Amino acid sequence: MIAPAAETAASYLPPAGAPVRVRFAPSPTGSLHVGGGRTALFDWLFAHGEARRSGRDGAFLLRIEDTDQNRLVEGATQGIYDALSWFGLTWDEGPDKGGPLGPYTQSERTALYQEHAETLISRGHAYRCFCTPERLERVRQEQQARKEPPGYDRHCRDLDPATVAANRESGLPSVVRFAMPRDGETRVHDLIRGEIVYRNATIDDRVLLKSDGFPTYHLANVVDDHLMAITHILRGDEWIPTAPLHIRLYAAFGWEPPILAHMPLILAPGGGKLSKRHGASAMEEFRANGFIPEALMNYLALLGWSLDGETEIFSKDDLLERFTLGRVSPSPATFDHAKLRWFNQHYINHVLSVGDLALRLVPFLADAGLVPSETGPNHPAFPLLRDASALLKDRLETLADAPDLMGFLLRDELDPYDAALLVPKKADPLATLEALVAVQEALADVDVTDEAATEARLRALAETLGMKAGQLFMPIRVAITGRTQSPGLFETLRVVGPDRVRARLAAAIALLRRHGDESLSAD
Ligand code: GLU
Repeated sequence: MIAPAAETAASYLPPAGAPVRVRFAPSPTGSLHVGGGRTALFDWLFAHGEARRSGRDGAFLLRIEDTDQNRLVEGATQGIYDALSWFGLTWDEGPDKGGPLGPYTQSERTALYQEHAETLISRGHAYRCFCTPERLERVRQEQQARKEPPGYDRHCRDLDPATVAANRESGLPSVVRFAMPRDGETRVHDLIRGEIVYRNATIDDRVLLKSDGFPTYHLANVVDDHLMAITHILRGDEWIPTAPLHIRLYAAFGWEPPILAHMPLILAPGGGKLSKRHGASAMEEFRANGFIPEALMNYLALLGWSLDGETEIFSKDDLLERFTLGRVSPSPATFDHAKLRWFNQHYINHVLSVGDLALRLVPFLADAGLVPSETGPNHPAFPLLRDASALLKDRLETLADAPDLMGFLLRDELDPYDAALLVPKKADPLATLEALVAVQEALADVDVTDEAATEARLRALAETLGMKAGQLFMPIRVAITGRTQSPGLFETLRVVGPDRVRARLAAAIALLRRHGDESLSAD
């Protein structure tokens, strides 16, 4: 473990005693992308790590932003809970947890947004717009023809109150738009990027409340961040363009905006946004592909953050002790699948205990029918699984590699293999057959669970037969595993155990006999 940092509170933390409140605010429109996982991780590390370390009360909230009813995906909210829980994050307030400033699902807060839209209208910061979709489309086409940037032409911005009232009275559908100041600039202070200045004239009068009474992201997000007393907004870089509008909304409500911190983009290896095209990109895919959450957490933490530019291995506790928001970089990070596999292999091989690894392999092996799905530490299948895990852990890059690598250890019978594999290059099938018969006899009175005794016996046999040890060991390896590559022969024999060793040698001998004098050289 890395020693805790001696730190003085960073300037972006509130005064001692004041809380730090951050939120992760996914929309349930599909699987949680690793970019979202990384944002949630940084939220959690900031609240539960940096803030708490420096004596602040750090809270991490989960808020479900489901205002876009057309894009909702059934089961996505549960998928988000599952992905975050698997990843190892815990939230203090959220739809499933409750909390003092809920509800935490936006579709349950519609009345609040409507009230706030009315407040803005009454203060002259927002207005009702009755433009039909057809008119908006015509305006867009005219702008296109004139090569002007698209945007609402503010047609309804200065409607007189009597017309608005009459339109409302007659039931004309309307939206509420923000009255963006036409002149001047808006300054966005971003903790990671510094100050970004926008000309107000370039920002559209965006819709805040749709005609169905649902808010847009902008209104709901700003209202909720304020009412939920969020102190720091951590979110992906792709949201930066919305920041000036949000800053203006805070000002229109007379609220202090939270500190903004936009996390660097995660790019695909060749550039561009990381997506399905580049392999796994959703948290649940990494889980299904056999990545372990500790390794993914370690890897994702380094996409945009570093302690010293060198240290790479961070346990969850190390991250809680060392993460600081101030060391998040503005530069995009590139997602490197090979590097993630390296981390995964490192955690499997060097960090997890063998027992823990064995238990994590169960779902993957059970899917392949290699262990019962209920295998736990006290199950009769566990000791063999544990031994197999110890034997093969340095060959596993992911948990999903296990069924292929471990089948020969966990099944009673080997999958059929080609008899030619038994015959080493340049060797004679008959000589190989005779050698295997000699091995069978030699092992009859050796306990294969005693590696040293087995090794001594087989080396002596090689000498007697006038063979090089390697030449003798290869057919044994193939007879026992069905493959030409395996972990060390003697440990393999130990784990396969006396009964199966006997049976597999006999099967190999029978296989060679069946092939008689056919040419079996494996070259
Ligand atoms: N609902 C937005 C999303 O899906 C939240 C963006 C934000 O954090 O403000 O990413």
